[in-house]
Amino acid sequence: MIKLEHVSKTYEAGVQALKDVSLHIMPGEFVFIVGDSGSGKSTLIKLLLKELSPTSGKITVNGKDLSRISHRHIPDYRRKIGCVFQNFRLLQDRNVYENVAFAMRVIEAGKRQIKKQVPYMLSLVGLASKYRSLPRHLSGGEQQRVAIARALVNKPKILLADEPTGNLDGHNAWEIMKLLDQINKAGTTVVVVTHNMEIVRAMNKRVITIRKGSVVDDQKGDADAI
Ligand code: ADP
Ligand code: MG
Repeated sequence: MIKLEHVSKTYEAGVQALKDVSLHIMPGEFVFIVGDSGSGKSTLIKLLLKELSPTSGKITVNGKDLSRISHRHIPDYRRKIGCVFQNFRLLQDRNVYENVAFAMRVIEAGKRQIKKQVPYMLSLVGLASKYRSLPRHLSGGEQQRVAIARALVNKPKILLADEPTGNLDGHNAWEIMKLLDQINKAGTTVVVVTHNMEIVRAMNKRVITIRKGSVVDDQKGDADAI
C-alpha cells in the first residue's frame, strides 16, 4: 500500500531530513510514526502526499510510483488520500456541513450523493447535531472531528495524520485516536505521526521510530499479532 525504498530527502538549504528510509505499510495497517521534533516525520508525510519529491529513492503508494505522476495529475492523486493536520485547516467562514461538503464538490460529486454522504460522515464522527456551527464555535476536538470527516468523505484507502492531537488536551486526544482506530477497523490504512507516547503505548500498534532522518526502530504491536 505504501512502500519507500532507500528514500532520502535533502532540502535546498542542505538539510538532510530523511536518510535512506525503507519501509513497507500493508493495506489495513494502523501505524504510528514517532520521533523527536526535527527528525523528518512531516517530511515523510509530505513525500507521501507528493508535496515534495525525494532527492533519491522510490515511493510507491496504492501501487503507483509517485515519480511517474505528472504535474497535472497530482491534485487527482492527493484527493485519493485523506489527510489531517495538527491545526485542523478548516475553512473558517463555512460551517461544519459546508467544510465537509466542500471536499465532495471539489471532485464534482452529485448533489444527491453529497446530501447523503455528508450527514453520514458527520454522524460517524459524532457531530451530526453541530452541522450548522462555524469552526470557531467548536472545541479543538470537535474541529479535528470535522477535519477527519472531510478527509474521509471521499472514501480514501489511506488516511495520513500529522500530529492530529498536537493541539488537544488529553481527553480529546484519546477521543481522536479512538476514532482513528475505528476508521482503521472499518478498513482504511491509517498512518499517524504523534508525540503522545502515552497513547502510543496504550494502543499497542506498529510503531516506527525516526531519529535524525533514519528509521531506528520498527515494532509490531500486539494489537496486530496473529
Ligand atoms: P518533524 O516533523 O519530525 O519535526 P520535519 O520533517 O518537519 O521534522 O523536519 C526535518 C528537518 O528538515 C528539520 O531539520 C527541519 O528543520 C528541516 N526542514 C523541514 N522543512 C524544511 C524546508 N522547507 N527547508 C529546509 N529545511 C527544512
Ligand atoms: Mg512535524
